[in-house]
Amino acid sequence: MKEFKPVWLIIQPSIANLMYECLTSNNLPLITSISYVELTGEILDTTVRQKMKKLFDCHVANQYGANEVNSIAYECPCGNMHIMENNVYVEIIKDRRCVLNEMGEICITSLTNSAMPLIRYLIGDIGKLKRFHCECGNKAPILEHIYGRNSQWIINESNNKITPYIIVGVFNHINRVFNEVIIQYQVIQNSYTSFLIKLFLEDTDIPYNFIEYEIKRKLKEELNFTFNLEFKYYDDFFDKYGEEKHSFFFNLITQ
Ligand SMILES: [Zn+2]
Repeated sequence: MKEFKPVWLIIQPSIANLMYECLTSNNLPLITSISYVELTGEILDTTVRQKMKKLFDCHVANQYGANEVNSIAYECPCGNMHIMENNVYVEIIKDRRCVLNEMGEICITSLTNSAMPLIRYLIGDIGKLKRFHCECGNKAPILEHIYGRNSQWIINESNNKITPYIIVGVFNHINRVFNEVIIQYQVIQNSYTSFLIKLFLEDTDIPYNFIEYEIKRKLKEELNFTFNLEFKYYDDFFDKYGEEKHSFFFNLITQ
């Protein structure tokens, strides 16, 4: 990269994270040619975004797309994911209805692919579509809370489905409070009332029980039901070179 002098980076958050660790832990020289970083392919949390800003001091944007249709939504300067209306028509389907302001399956119609038309294609991801006035001036609808196709629901004893997106919110909160201490996390629901929390932390003086207490407190506040947590600590548990996207949540009840 030093020789090639890239100006743009379009990468997955997990790879961006890996690059950050590699550059900083080996004291490698910064790649100063980069003026824009686009993150795509996985859920983006605030930690990776901040690391990229810190590393390259440039504009960092989130993009949601799929191999089948290319770009579906792109983040504007106000931080909203506007639909690429010239490229795709997006609907959200829940209980066989088209919905607005509700979570549901993302349904795509390609407006540009005449060789292989995809009409009302359920791409396997879930999200929420909203229409509101955005300060950036783009009038296209906004896609929120996008989860990958491997996303599963948190399920409580009454069999209610709860969006796993709250987990991302909880860990973003923890990283804000504890100075970006969590490098990787994964939550596994073992039963209706028990979760395993896998963590890979930075070297830190913060006692682990402080972090555990805050995770438990915040998760209880969000989930609003009673459960037990078990914590396990690892060094780097995601397979860096695997093909699989890194999932932050698994539900063993439904598997
Ligand atoms: Zn906007």
